[in-house]
Amino acid sequence: MPRRIHILPDTLANQIAAGEVVERPASVVKELVENSLDAAATRIDISVQNGGKTEIRVADDGCGLGREDALLALDRHATSKISSVEDLRAVRTLGFRGEALPSIASVSRMTIETAEPGGVGTRVRVAGGRILGVEDCARQAGTTVTVQNLFFNVPARAKFLRSAAAETRAITDVVTTLALANLSAGFRLESNDRTLLDLPPAPDLVARLAAIWGDEFAGRLVGIARERDGITVAGLVERPDTSVTGPRRVYLFVAGRPFRDREIVAAAERGYRTTIPSGARPSLFLYLDVPPGSVDVNVHPTKAEVRFRDRELVLAAVEDAVRSALGTLESSATLDHFPVAPQLRSAPVTPPTPPEPAPESTQLAFFVPATPAPRPADAGAAPGGSADADVVYQGDLLGEAGRHPERGAGPAEQGSAAPAVAPATPRRSALWQIHDTYILAETSSGLLIIDQHSAHERILFEEMMNGFENGRTSSQRLLFPLTLRLSPAEYAVVTDLRSIFDRAGFEIEPFGGRTIIVHATPAPHPYFNAERCLREMIAELAAGSELTRAAKNQHERIAMTFACKAAIKAGQRLSTREMEELYDRLFATELPSHDVHGRPAVIRLSLQELERRFGRHG
Ligand code: ADP
Ligand code: MG
Repeated sequence: MPRRIHILPDTLANQIAAGEVVERPASVVKELVENSLDAAATRIDISVQNGGKTEIRVADDGCGLGREDALLALDRHATSKISSVEDLRAVRTLGFRGEALPSIASVSRMTIETAEPGGVGTRVRVAGGRILGVEDCARQAGTTVTVQNLFFNVPARAKFLRSAAAETRAITDVVTTLALANLSAGFRLESNDRTLLDLPPAPDLVARLAAIWGDEFAGRLVGIARERDGITVAGLVERPDTSVTGPRRVYLFVAGRPFRDREIVAAAERGYRTTIPSGARPSLFLYLDVPPGSVDVNVHPTKAEVRFRDRELVLAAVEDAVRSALGTLESSATLDHFPVAPQLRSAPVTPPTPPEPAPESTQLAFFVPATPAPRPADAGAAPGGSADADVVYQGDLLGEAGRHPERGAGPAEQGSAAPAVAPATPRRSALWQIHDTYILAETSSGLLIIDQHSAHERILFEEMMNGFENGRTSSQRLLFPLTLRLSPAEYAVVTDLRSIFDRAGFEIEPFGGRTIIVHATPAPHPYFNAERCLREMIAELAAGSELTRAAKNQHERIAMTFACKAAIKAGQRLSTREMEELYDRLFATELPSHDVHGRPAVIRLSLQELERRFGRHG
C-alpha cells in the first residue's frame, strides 16, 4: 500500500498557520508593530493604503537584523525571543511563537528592509512564501516591513475582508491599543497619506490619552492604583458622573500585553456599584501586573486572551481597585471645564488617616436633640393610631454604626496595600448652607458643593451596611408602637424580609390581617419621621424601582431604600454643628462623592476654573 501520510510543504503549513494569525490587515499591523516594539523601537511609523488591503508598511528604529537573521526570521518557528519552555513562562516580549513573519509572507508580497546599527542593510523580497531575492540596501538601523496585496493567493480569504473604512478602523484600534501599552515609543499612523494618529513618546498615560482622544476625555478619568495579593491594578477609570454620556472605551493590559476579558470588565463595573445608574458604562484603562508564572499568555493564537492562575483573586483586586479610586474627591462631579489632569498613583500607598472624630457635642447636635425635634408638618398621624414618629432618643444614636475608624486598618495589617485612596476628609473650613439644600465648603484647591440629602443618603446607606456586617445597628423603642395597615403585596414584603428589617433596627410584628405593629425603628436624625419612612420603604420594596433593582441583595435593597427615605430632605435648615457633622460623616464613608442612586453627592469647582472664568490668568 502506498504511504498516505506526508509532511506538508512549508509554504502550505505557513498558509494554514496564517489562517489563525493573519485574519485581516489589522492582524498584520498588530504582528509587525509588536515586532518593532520587541526590537526596542522608540519610533514606529505605520502607513496603510486602502484599509491595508493594498499595502501595509511598518518602519521602526529598532535593533534591526543582520542578513542571516533576516532570512531565518522567515522560517516557521524562527524566533530570537525564547529558546526553552522556562523562557516561555516568564516571557516579556510580545512575540515568541516565531509564526508571524512566515505566515504573513505566505499570503502576501512582503519586503523586509533591515539593518543593525552600523551594519549593511539587507533587503529580502518574498511572494506567497517564496523568497524572490536578497540584496544589500542602504538604510539606518531599524526595520521596515512592507506587505502588499494581502491574500492575493488566497482569494477565499480576500473575500471576507470588509470595507476599507472598516479595516482602517480596526487598524486604528490595534495601533491605539499598542500605543496605550507602550508609552515611551512614538507612533504615527497614516492611511492613504492622511494622518490618523500622531503620538509622541508620552511621559504618562494621561498624556497619551489626551494625545489620542483629547484633553476633555482625559479630564474625565480618575487614577487608580492598588496592590492586593501580589496583583497590581493601575490605570485610569472614568468618573461616575461622566460615565452616563459619550463613547465607552475599555482597554485591558497584563504585563504590558493587551487582552480581552469580559469578567474583568464586569468586576470593574461592580466596583462602580451604587455610584452610577444601572446601564451606565464607564471607560476603563486597566493595567494589571501579576507575579511571574501566574498568567499564561499562550492560550490564544493571537494572544487576545490570557489565562490567570487565580482568576478570583484578579477579579477581586480589580473590583477593589476601582472601588477605592471612587472614594476620592477626584472622582466627584466637577464644574471645571478642564479638570486637573488625573493623578496617576503608584501603589502601594500609605494607609489613610481616619478622619478625626468630631467632638462628642457635635455629634449630639445632629442626633440627639435636647428637646424633641419639631415634627415636619406633613407627618400625618395614622387615624386613631399612635402618634407617628415620636421616638425617645436615648443616648448616642450615632453609636458604633456611625463611625468605623477601623476601616482601612485591616488590609494594612495583613501586609497588602492599604486603600490607595484614603477617603481623607478635605480640610473643613466654614460651611454655608444655601437654599436649605446645599452645603458649600472651601477646600485647599477650591470649593465643594454638597447636596445634603444625597450626602446623608450615602452616610445612612453605608452605616446600615456596616451595621449588617458587624451586627450592630442602632434602634430606638417607640414610646407608642405604630400600627400600619398594608396592601397584601406590602404585607408579603414585610413578612418576607422581616429578619432583615429586624437587623436594620425595625422591630416589626406581623399582626395578621395585613396589619403590622412596629415596636422599634432606627432613629437617624431628629427630623426623622419613622412612620413615613417605613411606609415609603415598604411601598417602594413592594412596587420595585430602579433603585431596588440595582441592589445586589435584599440587605442592600433595604439599606438603599432606608437611606433614600430616611435621609434629611432638601429644604431642611441645618445648624452649623449639624452641617459639620454631616460633612465629617460623609467623608468617613467609603464613597463620599456619590449618592446611592448613581448621582453626585459632591460637585467640585476648582480655584483654577474660577481664575480662568474671571480672567485672572496672565
Ligand atoms: P516572534 O515575534 O514570535 O519571534 P516573528 O515571526 O514575528 O516571530 O519574528 C521572527 C523574528 O524576526 C523575531 O524573533 C525577531 O528576531 C525578528 N524580527 C521580526 N521583526 C523585527 C523587527 N521589526 N526588528 C527586529 N527584529 C525583528
Ligand atoms: Mg512577532
